[in-house]
Amino acid sequence: MKTALSALLDEMFDAEKLVYDDCARWQMQCPACHEAVFKVLRQEAGRDLHYFAHYRRDKLLAEECELRVGAMNAEEVAKHNAAARGQRLAYYLSVLKDQFTPIYGERLPTLRKMIGRTWAGRKIRTDSLIVAAKADLKGNFLDCATHIVDLPETKFELARQQEIALHIWMHLLSNTGRDNFDFMIDLVLIDFHQENVGYGDARLLDVVRPLIMGGKREAQEVHWRLSHEEWQGFNGWAAIVNFIVFVSFNKLLGLNYWQLTKEFYDAQNKGRA
Ligand SMILES: [Zn+2]
Repeated sequence: MKTALSALLDEMFDAEKLVYDDCARWQMQCPACHEAVFKVLRQEAGRDLHYFAHYRRDKLLAEECELRVGAMNAEEVAKHNAAARGQRLAYYLSVLKDQFTPIYGERLPTLRKMIGRTWAGRKIRTDSLIVAAKADLKGNFLDCATHIVDLPETKFELARQQEIALHIWMHLLSNTGRDNFDFMIDLVLIDFHQENVGYGDARLLDVVRPLIMGGKREAQEVHWRLSHEEWQGFNGWAAIVNFIVFVSFNKLLGLNYWQLTKEFYDAQNKGRA
């Protein structure tokens, strides 16, 4: 059949859009009987044929599914996908949020209560977009990685971790990533403040505190003051944005993507057994 349903994303995909491994990753199933399916690509008369096939070899059943799925028109598929869109996005975004759990552990519920869409978070996002537009992101971020000390135990090599973190960072700067970006920035700032209060750079803490705990006016005042100050040879606000980007990217780099991928594969194998 040409179309299959992703159980994880609750979206129907055309066979041409997926590769073999995606079927496990996204838990692809037959929309008619819900059996697991796999992707087939074969050549016929010099043309590439893409389709999904059932693992179960029951010819009658497969033919029946073929008829039922083949009868779904483009409008039906589009209707299903539109209806599922909200849940799919929520699921997609929750994956990253859940990845922060082992890093912050028992402190996460307390931290989450403090997280809101602060003025500072939105401002930092806008300015990060400008940084992203101008900078050689890959070069800059990959340099960051050489300083990282808290990489998780992972079976991915560092270069792979960096590529994934970079893709996630780019996603966070996209429109749908906005919510997670705000979440991450607030989390990074609150965590930095809690960890360093009384020990760390007093000047930096004096800036971070009103950004997370102050109201809009206090945050705007800090922004205005820093924009007119020089910090280690840079504009003060640009220095703060760079600091936050650096810390956030290091957090992304420290997430255990290998474990996450493994969980997807394990879930798939359990489904097949
Ligand atoms: Zn079927």
